[in-house]
Amino acid sequence: MIRGVSEIGKLLKSENSLIDGILKSDKYDYAFILKINLDTYQIDVFSNFQELDKNQIKKLKWIGNFKGSGYQAIITTDKLDYLITQSIPGILANFKKMDNFKDSKFKKVLEIFLKEAFITTNDKKYYKYILDIRKFRKVDGLEIASEETKRKLNNIKNIELEKIVESIRKDILGYIKERVKLNELPKKLLFSLEITKKIDNEEVVVSPEHPDYALYLKNLIVQEHFKSSKEGICHICRSKNNIANLDTKYFKLLKFYITDKKGFASSFIEENFTKNFGVCRDCYENLLIGENFVLSNFLLNYKEVKLYIFPEFLYYNSITKDNFEIWSKAIKDKVNVIWEKVGELEYYLENNFLINLVFATSDGSAVKIDKVIYDIPLSRLDELINVQKEVYIHGEEFFGLEKYWNLEFKNMLYLLPIRKRKDVIEIREFLEFLDNLISGRKFDKVWLFSKFVDTARIHRYKNYDNYVQSNAPYVPKKKDKIDDKPFLIFILQSNLLLYYLRILGQIETKGGECAMCDELLRNVDNKELLEYVDFLKLEPVERGLFLVGYLVAKIGTKQYKEGSEDKPILSKINFQSMNEEKVKTLLNEILEKLRQYKILDKYNETIYSIAKCYLDGNREKLKDGINNVYWILSGYAYGTYKAIVKKEVKDGI
Ligand SMILES: [Zn+2]
Repeated sequence: MIRGVSEIGKLLKSENSLIDGILKSDKYDYAFILKINLDTYQIDVFSNFQELDKNQIKKLKWIGNFKGSGYQAIITTDKLDYLITQSIPGILANFKKMDNFKDSKFKKVLEIFLKEAFITTNDKKYYKYILDIRKFRKVDGLEIASEETKRKLNNIKNIELEKIVESIRKDILGYIKERVKLNELPKKLLFSLEITKKIDNEEVVVSPEHPDYALYLKNLIVQEHFKSSKEGICHICRSKNNIANLDTKYFKLLKFYITDKKGFASSFIEENFTKNFGVCRDCYENLLIGENFVLSNFLLNYKEVKLYIFPEFLYYNSITKDNFEIWSKAIKDKVNVIWEKVGELEYYLENNFLINLVFATSDGSAVKIDKVIYDIPLSRLDELINVQKEVYIHGEEFFGLEKYWNLEFKNMLYLLPIRKRKDVIEIREFLEFLDNLISGRKFDKVWLFSKFVDTARIHRYKNYDNYVQSNAPYVPKKKDKIDDKPFLIFILQSNLLLYYLRILGQIETKGGECAMCDELLRNVDNKELLEYVDFLKLEPVERGLFLVGYLVAKIGTKQYKEGSEDKPILSKINFQSMNEEKVKTLLNEILEKLRQYKILDKYNETIYSIAKCYLDGNREKLKDGINNVYWILSGYAYGTYKAIVKKEVKDGI
């Protein structure tokens, strides 16, 4: 997985891609640029960066302050004090260790700035250099330094350096407020420098936008990190090289990568981060760029979960700079279709790479990995998409045109009783389900049915507050109304899911025969019903239970039409479990109600006797109470939904 990221980075590598990849994404209220002219000793303030966007952060190259005790050797920072003291000397000290800046005018200007505009003190650490603000004027020609600051600077040997810096900071902030006409400065601020100086009659402007600054940062980040590198074999390119481990400052998800058992660390504990994942300098840069691409372009931000796609190439030369854009769009589209969007795929992708799906939730700024599904061949996604289409066609044939019959992953979420607290969904169980599904493992039917029956209860008792079902598109926001439709849609969707899993070979369905009852069933004058029973590949006993539910629907519909909106017959179904005894009692009650409501016509009587035939002949198969309820509910949902579709009753049943 990590090699795929490196490969993407390699493709996208350009002058600025590394810096762009590690820019801070926090929100800032303002950025102020101190425009210092070293020929006139004038300082102006520039700020049109109210509510900074990504492009402005990019211009300023704000990568965050450095951890640890070194100088903050950067010219964009959130602490003005750094610019007054350590930034410039820090950068110049770093330049000495880098060989790309021998004749740099950028460097020359900073040298002049340090030499002419800073005071050198006796301090050994952060206050060795302090900006001599006395030398500078405002644009109106007045001094920036206050009397207090001047007094302190004149008496520098006897005053705490910290107090002096504080005083200079106050003067500059005062001047900023004056220049940008603000009474109060907001809290989240950035500060940066733009220094102008004529060198050999050429005006040189030192700012974060200068190409030398980008080069400097790149050197700094990688060099800094490789200071403690040692010789070894790079985990990515296998070269013998100076290698260093991935760090936690710049890597967001890859820092969880562990090498011993390929994959991500299961928990978000810093100690678990990889300690011996050594990579060479080139690969380190590739990974930074590649991860940034994945984080910003291969993120599908669904309401329920964040999903990152990490591709892994099988043939490393198959993707080029030219086809990269189409390739990345095509992958994203494919995952999108399977998750939530019905639609045709625009591009064809060759099956020459695998994808890893990384599911994460973010808690403020920290990202937590909930689940990773590894090594999914693209052909597997195609297979799922095809079955999804097939299921949709069947759903439409049986129940009419309705988007609910499209079993996208998003719709599958509502089939399981997943809890939620406020807006946080306890998504893990669903992700396990997806892992099982995508990886092609078998499902345990007992588990599935118990989950379905639990979900059925959530709908039946409108217990939506604590469950994800409240977000289902078919659940009305107002919950006071008696409305069975969400429950019906859910049960029918779960029937479709069983078909979906059967086609994929992931559940066992035995089917089976019961010659006498089957013969009776075949003669029933309801082609659709027979087709549906066939579609579900029910075992004989399940056919009987389904027909019991179907008759409950007949009675319920009649009760509804006669004004009992809550359909009293439903109270005869125990939504926890129905043992053999309860099923038999229900069957007797059905006969009674059919008579009572005068709907014991030839057709219903036949269905009743077929149901009885199946159940009587398969008593020993009625042991699983949950299985019994599920199939009774399925028959009920089928019969009732059909009545709605055929307009026998109005929509709101
Ligand atoms: Zn390498």
